[in-house]
Amino acid sequence: MFKKILIANRGEIAVRILRACRELGIRSVAVFSEVDRKSLHVRLADEAYAIGPAPSRESYLRIDKLMGVARRAGCDAVHPGYGFLAENPALPQACREADITFIGPSAGAMEALGSKTAGRQLARRLEVPTVPGTNDPTEEPQARALSQSMGYPVLLKAVAGGGGKGMRLVCSHAEFESAFREAASEAMNAFGDERLYLEKYLERPRHIEIQILADAHGRVVSLGERECSVQRRHQKVIEEAPSPIVTPELRKRMSEAAVRLARAGGYVNAGTVEFLVDQNLNFYFLEVNTRLQVEHPVTEQVTGLDLVKLQIAIAAGHRLPFAWESITPRGHAMEVRLYAEDPENNFFPSPGKILSRHTPGGPGIRMDEGVYEGWTVPNDYDPLLSKLIAWGNSREETIARLRRALDEYTITGIRTNAGLFRRILEEPDFLRGEIHTRWLDEWLRRPRAPSSAPQASAKNSSIEAAAAAIVAAVWQAKQSAAQAPSASSDRESASRWKLEGRREQLDRVP
Ligand code: ADP
Repeated sequence: MFKKILIANRGEIAVRILRACRELGIRSVAVFSEVDRKSLHVRLADEAYAIGPAPSRESYLRIDKLMGVARRAGCDAVHPGYGFLAENPALPQACREADITFIGPSAGAMEALGSKTAGRQLARRLEVPTVPGTNDPTEEPQARALSQSMGYPVLLKAVAGGGGKGMRLVCSHAEFESAFREAASEAMNAFGDERLYLEKYLERPRHIEIQILADAHGRVVSLGERECSVQRRHQKVIEEAPSPIVTPELRKRMSEAAVRLARAGGYVNAGTVEFLVDQNLNFYFLEVNTRLQVEHPVTEQVTGLDLVKLQIAIAAGHRLPFAWESITPRGHAMEVRLYAEDPENNFFPSPGKILSRHTPGGPGIRMDEGVYEGWTVPNDYDPLLSKLIAWGNSREETIARLRRALDEYTITGIRTNAGLFRRILEEPDFLRGEIHTRWLDEWLRRPRAPSSAPQASAKNSSIEAAAAAIVAAVWQAKQSAAQAPSASSDRESASRWKLEGRREQLDRVP
């Protein structure tokens, strides 16, 4: 087993990885940029090294600096986390040259599966269905001609894409040229690669992905699916496992396709094969993420496995100790991504100092996070603060726990999207599992019921927000008295009063 692992990342995922290291008796080495000197991952790691200024291309994206730290600290392995360099074949390559183990797939497997067009080509060879479109980077005139013959809407996508960058929906021939230009320039800025390809835009698909694990001895297993259809502008915000629509038979077919792809790509370590699923339960390959995913905890909760420890064990050459057939999801898990952003102000990032916070706990609740009271959320990176994960025996129990945990959660000094999740978790479509990848964007455009706005902002309990909540509670109490309230609304207004009281006490703690 390894003795010391360099964690080439920051935030909640760096904390997640160093926790796994500690459980395995491995020393952890953190790296940090100037603005991250006081970050939680730096505080918790066994050692920490500065790697430069705040902009990630001068710190977290500098392979030379990371390898310099790995050598200086005597690390025998590097874990990339997700984002930053996690899918850049140059990092496993540099590790090989330095004789340090990269905890992830080889550079070759990353290239064979990680590039979107290479992944599509492989899927086609293996007869795994793909969304109709091009399997090669395409120039503007050919792409335009093909869009017309396929029929609009189409989606332009960056070959090197990720995080929705360089992606453009095109609904008509007239928009095509400018959309192509914009997508190519966005892709160039984000990835240094302006190449685009084309897919037919599926109207209301669901995003369902298969988690796989592959060891270096030829065993490839599927850990089942996660559904990530609740998205804002094509970015996941809620994930769950199992999917409300996946039957054991569909799970088996999707798993077989994912395992086939991983085998053909010579894949070793943890990876995710993403699919879109249409209303008739046909699935289409989307891409392979050659790394740990943000949403991996929901799979951990329903399988009882620790994916980070398994990643480390696989990289150390261990065999996977179980067969795929032995894995069946137990209960239900759901994750919400808590961001420092303001849903009331067009989801504008809300960096700043965390003045106080209360973290939920209790049965079935897990919080993966990289923040603490008194820490200043920097403006320089993705504003993901915490992932709140609930587990329950059923989807209903999981949602009830998640709601209860969101009610306990308070954070002051910055704004978060917690209120948005409280609203989504009350929404009948969501409760029935009737969601698709455009569902949240459409729902956000719907006019809001008058009572939901003050409730949502109350949770960002700065003094004004707390005052607004009390006004809202009085308003609600009056409303419910006037309208012969149901048992649940009675309970709601009573519990809101109690919560406000408790929050006030929390605020007084010096
Ligand atoms: P990225 O890697 O940039 O995140 P993906 O290819 O993984 O992009 O797609 C992200 C999301 O965009 C999907 O989950 C889905 O919501 C939407 N999407 C991607 N391709 C299509 C498509 N062909 N039709 C409809 N929606 C799509």
